[in-house]
Amino acid sequence: MDTLTTCDRCGSDACYVQEVNNEIKLYQCYGCGFIANTAMKRDSPFLEEQMEVLPELYKELMGEDENGVIWMPSTVNIPTKGMVFADGTRASNWEWAAVKSIPTTEEEKAKFKEKGKDYEWKMDMSTLKHFPEREYMEALDYIGVFEVE
Ligand SMILES: [Zn+2]
Repeated sequence: MDTLTTCDRCGSDACYVQEVNNEIKLYQCYGCGFIANTAMKRDSPFLEEQMEVLPELYKELMGEDENGVIWMPSTVNIPTKGMVFADGTRASNWEWAAVKSIPTTEEEKAKFKEKGKDYEWKMDMSTLKHFPEREYMEALDYIGVFEVE
């Protein structure tokens, strides 16, 4: 079951905790937009795997809380709505980027089919909008995460 708690990183009370099992908990904070996984501690194989695939900015923004749990920015990718991700050149200069998705045209669908892909939606880069770190919720709202279908 998901429960709300106080974020160990930013102190907001909008941090969702999901207990995977007795040892592993996942945190997703809607206050700061960062996520944590208690299995991801310094020198853990899980963290090393992440380090190989994460963008530089995400590595720079990573930080440990007082319990040794490592926090990093979340990446939201909902094909039918859009994406929200950390965007910037370095830890001192970044914002949330939000991009809405739009349905692909018949022509585009045909092109994707040729490549063996079946895409109903694509990211519309013309809708790209940036939000300051503290406005993570606004960024999610912009792509319609909270809209009920
Ligand atoms: Zn937080």
